[in-house]
Amino acid sequence: MVDLNRRGFIRSLFSIGSIGAASSSEAQVQAKGKSVFLWCDLHSGHVGFPTGLDAPAIRPGSIAKLIAAASLVEDGFNTNLQFECTGTYKVSGVKELGEVHCQFAHGRLDLRRALAFSCNCFFAQATRSLTTRAFLAKARALGLASPVAGRSSGLFPALESETKPSLPYVLGLAADFKPNCLQLMRLAGLIAIGPGERLPVLHSSENFELKDREKPLAVALTRKSAELLRSSMRLSVQEGTSSKLDPQDKMQIAAKTGTTDHGKKFQSQIIGFFPYDKPRNAFCLFSPAGTSVDAAVPEASNLILSTSW
Ligand SMILES: [Zn+2]
Repeated sequence: MVDLNRRGFIRSLFSIGSIGAASSSEAQVQAKGKSVFLWCDLHSGHVGFPTGLDAPAIRPGSIAKLIAAASLVEDGFNTNLQFECTGTYKVSGVKELGEVHCQFAHGRLDLRRALAFSCNCFFAQATRSLTTRAFLAKARALGLASPVAGRSSGLFPALESETKPSLPYVLGLAADFKPNCLQLMRLAGLIAIGPGERLPVLHSSENFELKDREKPLAVALTRKSAELLRSSMRLSVQEGTSSKLDPQDKMQIAAKTGTTDHGKKFQSQIIGFFPYDKPRNAFCLFSPAGTSVDAAVPEASNLILSTSW
């Protein structure tokens, strides 16, 4: 259980203006109070829905940092460059954003570790010159505006949003960017298979009606950005925010977590793939109650480790 003081503190991580306001559709998901787990076979495209056919679309939280990191690397960002995290970073130039926070000071870290430990202060500094246009173009290329497994896309920002500051998108807290769980799982699949490969069109075995508009997605990553994302997701499981997912490393998972505030509570997601060396499965778990450490990670751990793959 989370104690109230910690809850209050964690909530402060998301207090960057009104951009984190929860919407009524999120409230509906929350009202159901049910976690959602989805997985797919990266060779066949088969999608499993062990918890039912829901695929909620909510703000992705720190999962969005994967997109920001890919944009940075492909724009020539020096992956050895370090920034200091003192636990708080004042965002200059964008008054309504105020400050971003981390749960504790991460110290000096590079992009790979910043992703593995999901350091908000690093990303606020590293993405100062990343435009929302560039972020959204990468998100679109990675399927976050496209239908998936016969379902329409979750909410994707309108063109006007491209002139807004990028940080709310980088942190996955913008109210107009809500990819669904299937799209986030597909993102994990694209990172897993890497550039030069094509992910099959994802489909449910119960409903093999592929929509004409769905095409196999090419992996819109370079070798360098894919390697950075893959290795940081692996480090997340070994040492970072997903370290309780598979402590004995039975499945060789690579993953990324995200937590968003939801009224007085939190909701969280985790996406990932395994086994790391020869990826066969990708997954997404959404938990309507609790941070990723308290909810999404342990719930995904229970499901993945109790299944015969
Ligand atoms: Zn930090």
